[in-house]
Amino acid sequence: MKTIEDFDFKDKKALIRVDFNVPLDSDLNVSDNNRIEAAKPTIIKILEDGGSAILMSHLGRPKGTKNADMSLSHIVESVSETLGVKVKFVADCIGASVAQAVEELRSGEVLLLENLRFYKEEESGDLDFAEQLSHWGDVYVNDAFGTAHRAHASTTVIAQYFPERKCFGYLLAAEIKAIDTVMKTGKKPVTAILGGAKVSSKITIIENILEKIDHLIIGGGMTYTFVLAQGGAVGDSICEPDKVDLAHSILEKASALGVQVHLPVDVVAADAFSNEAQTRVMPANAIEKGWQGLDAGPETLRQFREVILQSKTILWNGPVGVFEMENFSKGTIEVGNAVVEATENGAFSLVGGGDSVAAVKQFGFQDKVSYVSTGGGAMLESLEGKTLPGIAAIMQEPKQ
Ligand code: AMP
Repeated sequence: MKTIEDFDFKDKKALIRVDFNVPLDSDLNVSDNNRIEAAKPTIIKILEDGGSAILMSHLGRPKGTKNADMSLSHIVESVSETLGVKVKFVADCIGASVAQAVEELRSGEVLLLENLRFYKEEESGDLDFAEQLSHWGDVYVNDAFGTAHRAHASTTVIAQYFPERKCFGYLLAAEIKAIDTVMKTGKKPVTAILGGAKVSSKITIIENILEKIDHLIIGGGMTYTFVLAQGGAVGDSICEPDKVDLAHSILEKASALGVQVHLPVDVVAADAFSNEAQTRVMPANAIEKGWQGLDAGPETLRQFREVILQSKTILWNGPVGVFEMENFSKGTIEVGNAVVEATENGAFSLVGGGDSVAAVKQFGFQDKVSYVSTGGGAMLESLEGKTLPGIAAIMQEPKQ
């Protein structure tokens, strides 16, 4: 696996695919620069080597047409501030104006190109478009994990024009390493904590990770499909009756593989889907009519904590309750606390995928776990065992 550590960028122009798809406020100013911050180490390393950086990204979904609201010109100031370098901008990503701006770029300078998705050829993975982009750099660096699961021109197709001169940036390399640690090289016992609303959206992940883990903790709305499968009563809890057979087969497969499955034994049930609802702790398999389980109960959390604390490798995807409502956030906070404690004791912990990342940030755990993945869809596809095209394109050796 080649990373930017393997290259000396002195007097080289690095063409970097970054993920600067940042949120803009109503005045079109950057409201959260996390993604720019995340790409900073890669860009700085290139500049410190004595090279220059040409940054390409998408922003929003302009669907192949120019859209002033989605111009990357709106983020130039924020990128300049974050990097501490005055960033140049060119209002296109291919053509004569870009050729000139690239030609004029000196060592230590940064040039940001216009939104790649103003051309429909970006998302269609057009070969000719990728080839035109490839002219701008001596070395191609992919540091955009968030789009690594897309076979777009700038994320995948372009790599073939740099057979010996392509590599991962720090961010993408770190994501790959974190996922590998959980899926391949992690110390045992390995525990996966899966929560979230529905089992249907996590099924491929569960099937892929079962062979790699020792413990599977199931929480959140998914719980109730499993409870139903075991003949319990779920009251008005969120549930997918058509997935009961699936839940059965997951439990059977886990048992055959020797994976210990930990389901909630008690839940905090509410008489409405509301933070103001009345609540009662009920056995997870005997929820009364008119009540719905919205968070893990105290005995469950005690058991989950015990499993988490004896784990050496932990993957956490999905909250174990409706954490957006304060009265049902306790389970997710307690699970987070246990993951943090296990991490302090030397476990490797990876948090990834959509809502669990939001929860971890909301409760301030992000600097206390080993790794928080930034790539939502890309992360989920990795956990599902898919080879991401953007990663494969860099790994691929040149044809002899
Ligand atoms: P996901 O995107 O699949 O990870 O689902 C995350 C969502 O699941 C969050 O918005 C939670 O509020 C929701 N969730 C977690 N537990 C429950 C539950 N017991 N009932 C309903 N929704 C839940």
